[in-house]
Amino acid sequence: MANTWDFETRSIHSGFDQDKGTGATALPIYESAAFAYDSAEDLEAAFQGRKFGHIYSRIANPTVTAFENRVNALENGLGAIATASGMAAIATAVYTLAQAGDEIVSGKSLFGGTFQLFNEIFGNSGIKVVYVESTATEAYRRAISPRTKLVFLETIGNPKLDIPDIGAIAAVAREQGVPLVVDSTLSTPYLFAAKRFGVDLVIHSTSKYISGSGNTIGGILVDLGNFDWRHCRTGAVAALTKQAGEYAFLARARRQVLQNTGSCLSPFNAYLQNLGLETLALRMSKHCTNAVGLVEYFQAQPQVVSVNYPGLPGHPDHAVAAAQFHGGYGGLITLRLGTRERCFRMINRLKMVKCLANVGDAKTLIIHPASTIYHNCSAAEQEAAGVYPDLVRISVGIESLRDIINDFDQALAKE
Ligand SMILES: *Cc1c(COP(=O)(O)O)cnc(C)c1O
Repeated sequence: MANTWDFETRSIHSGFDQDKGTGATALPIYESAAFAYDSAEDLEAAFQGRKFGHIYSRIANPTVTAFENRVNALENGLGAIATASGMAAIATAVYTLAQAGDEIVSGKSLFGGTFQLFNEIFGNSGIKVVYVESTATEAYRRAISPRTKLVFLETIGNPKLDIPDIGAIAAVAREQGVPLVVDSTLSTPYLFAAKRFGVDLVIHSTSKYISGSGNTIGGILVDLGNFDWRHCRTGAVAALTKQAGEYAFLARARRQVLQNTGSCLSPFNAYLQNLGLETLALRMSKHCTNAVGLVEYFQAQPQVVSVNYPGLPGHPDHAVAAAQFHGGYGGLITLRLGTRERCFRMINRLKMVKCLANVGDAKTLIIHPASTIYHNCSAAEQEAAGVYPDLVRISVGIESLRDIINDFDQALAKE
């Protein structure tokens, strides 16, 4: 029954339905560091992976497992690993597949933290990241070398809002025998069915839309079952298929990388994220319709020089976005107002909309990227990332559209 359920049903009943002992229907928080076994033989079997069982919460925890299984059900995956943050999920994926001397090919429209991780941490530990224009499918093919261990990209570039043709890039990666790892944080499993587009590993920062209220940090990594790990260029993963079969990637990611880096999700944060996940479909649908309404409002304002949103027919990647997203184009929009001063004035006059560095909250958020997230970048680097002195990024919340528009309207009226 469970595998025929619709998305909304899976987001409420998969992974955990009710507690067998107590009948509790809310996911119990198992705040226990370790788990006892009746015999030395049982613990031996669990340790050696011959029998499933929780051992120590750095490796796995029942609350976290329920959350992993629910996200996995939404992605139609093989299995999932929840992590302390979105950054930890990306690091776990890369450390499972790559080591010093290896290369990653990555689209260059990247979340700022990912860019820092790739350049500072991986760059300094001998893993080289080769960047290509995120939407240039053929550039990925040219950049893949015999040392490449994975291809990485984001579903919606932020704040550029460029959309790569993921099915086409997945075909390139498949042809070259390299797994495609996709950060779908801004599209969520609701808008983007990663498995159907040939993605091998999908990552979410669950701090954003999945938890949905800006109250917790977490991440998740899902193996979608599309890649045949027997042919993986990473010797350790290919070798593990002898014992673990199709679960080779997940086994190495959990028992080598997660276990030894300690980047596990806490049970309490798993509880919050699982709770948020139950309303993901309702919220994403509202984020998307509010974004469309707000874009229409801004387009009619003479003070607004330009509006960028992948849902607009004039957006350069609109056709790709329409073919690969289902149910909307996400909750991020950007505006250009002509000058940096106008951006600051509008932000300072807003009464309800919050000025802060986050996305995917129930609340509407705004930021001036050039003076904050990108303040260390040169003007040329900013432009390459789609950042301009007169640009603001809005993460559209799920308040009433009328109240969001009214707040922007009073802030713009005095221009
Ligand atoms: C926020 C974000 C991350 C990092 O997630 P954290 O949970 O903050 O570590 C990664 N990718 C994207 C696209 C994000 O928006």
